[in-house]
Amino acid sequence: MRTHTPVVFTKISLADVSGYGEASMPPYLGETHESATAFLEKVIRVLSRFSSINDIEQILEKIDEIEAGNNAAKASVDIALHDLLGKFKNAPLHKLWNINANKTSFTTYTIGISNENEIQQKIIDATDYKILKVKLGSEDDKKMINVIRALTDKPIIVDVNQGWKDKYFADEMIAWLSEKNTLLVEQPLPINMIDETAWLTERSNLPIIADESCKRLVDIEKTNGAFSGINIKLMKSTGLNEARKMIERANELKMKICIGCMSETSCGVSAASQLAPLADWADLDGPLLIKNDFFTGIKFVNGKIVLSHLPGIGTEPITNVFK
Ligand code: MG
Repeated sequence: MRTHTPVVFTKISLADVSGYGEASMPPYLGETHESATAFLEKVIRVLSRFSSINDIEQILEKIDEIEAGNNAAKASVDIALHDLLGKFKNAPLHKLWNINANKTSFTTYTIGISNENEIQQKIIDATDYKILKVKLGSEDDKKMINVIRALTDKPIIVDVNQGWKDKYFADEMIAWLSEKNTLLVEQPLPINMIDETAWLTERSNLPIIADESCKRLVDIEKTNGAFSGINIKLMKSTGLNEARKMIERANELKMKICIGCMSETSCGVSAASQLAPLADWADLDGPLLIKNDFFTGIKFVNGKIVLSHLPGIGTEPITNVFK
């Protein structure tokens, strides 16, 4: 089933310079157009108390304090403010943060839970991409992998989306996948099975990465020991500011890092791509999987992420989405 992901774009202007941001809200995380719009109304009041983009840290702190949750709406403001910051300093964000733009990796290309014909088409669509991301968690998991393996030997990462409910079954699947050129397994078990996940990670010879179990900085401590690493997405972390802190903490804990995205346009993904050189893996194919990209920005050359050299997050609206 194809689900629709609501998005809200933000534009924050200061002295004729505008920064752009995006909130992408997959329905399972509970945010909607209505909740985001209501939250952004409150943000406007906070922003009116500041006059310099150099106060970005304090501004974001105040916005986070408005109310709990609203992570994607908060991310849209964080992204727009960082875009504005870079534009005021006339430098791409990665440059302001001393991140080496040449160190980006290959993005994965997603194959959702699909039948044989759909998989064949997806493999063709993914011709330029070096790593496949395969969504598992259905009764046909082994069948899907076998179909893929009959067509290509490209490395895969596997995202189970909490879909396996039994640790012994998960253990057996991971052992099987480890012989199929698999690089990592994301969120094999439900969030509440943290002890079982720790048991699994201990025995697994593949890295086990937390997605739904790790949204914000505070969640890293809970996942440490139970997972080998975390998948950081701006829509979960409330944006770039906290994502950077998560990378720092994960490094201290020697946890692996994946930079991911939701179903996002080139606006949100160009923001996330600024951090891609700091990650072990990048799962930033959002703009490749949507038909209505409203922004320019991130590019992929033979599957490798190429950061925009424009100031800020390096994005510009293609059409006037803010009419
Ligand atoms: Mg995931």
